[in-house]
Amino acid sequence: MVLNDKLRTGEILPLMESFHSLQGEGYHSGLPAYFIRLGGCDIGCHWCDVKQSWDFKKYSLISVENIVEKVVTNIDNIIITGGEPLMWNMDLLTNTLKAKNKKTHLETSGAYKISGDWDWFCLSPKKNKLPTEESFTRADELKVIIYNKHDLEFAENCAKNVNKGCSLFLQPEWGKKDVAMSLIVNYIVKNPKWKISLQIHKYLNIP
Ligand code: SF4
Repeated sequence: MVLNDKLRTGEILPLMESFHSLQGEGYHSGLPAYFIRLGGCDIGCHWCDVKQSWDFKKYSLISVENIVEKVVTNIDNIIITGGEPLMWNMDLLTNTLKAKNKKTHLETSGAYKISGDWDWFCLSPKKNKLPTEESFTRADELKVIIYNKHDLEFAENCAKNVNKGCSLFLQPEWGKKDVAMSLIVNYIVKNPKWKISLQIHKYLNIP
């Protein structure tokens, strides 16, 4: 099988980095986790804090077996992030992790077809490329990044599309956090279905 076929089937993936840390954002904030960050994203958010992930060609294509081998065994929760992981076929990676009794968490913009078997699906929609209907329906958590007041309206429109049990979070964009934080706090007080998500890993200065 040629390299491109293996990438298409998800047997190899562009691994940007993998590390253990704490989940810094959203519903599982503070949870010890192992992160697998995959290269590749074409959404193009101007405030993206991992722009180095966009071009997957910068990263080595690693077999799923080798990616999973590195996973620290005493950590149960594995967070697959990017980049945009759903640009790739996640079936083999998630099945291999689950065979090792790991919980699989996804961080995604939801703009691509869903693959993989997920215990937790965190949807962070982006205006540049909207989530699919399937992603809205599947989301366990909706996390909308707030850069300015217009994003609050975007957040409400997204919230109309998720299921009733989906947890709703507003997260200040880090570079604008002072302004965004006060927008969010004022908004949540009036709209208590939302909670705030802070990027605690950035405050703690951990990866
Ligand atoms: Fe960056 Fe995520 Fe936006 Fe892609 S979807 S550009 S990785 S913030």
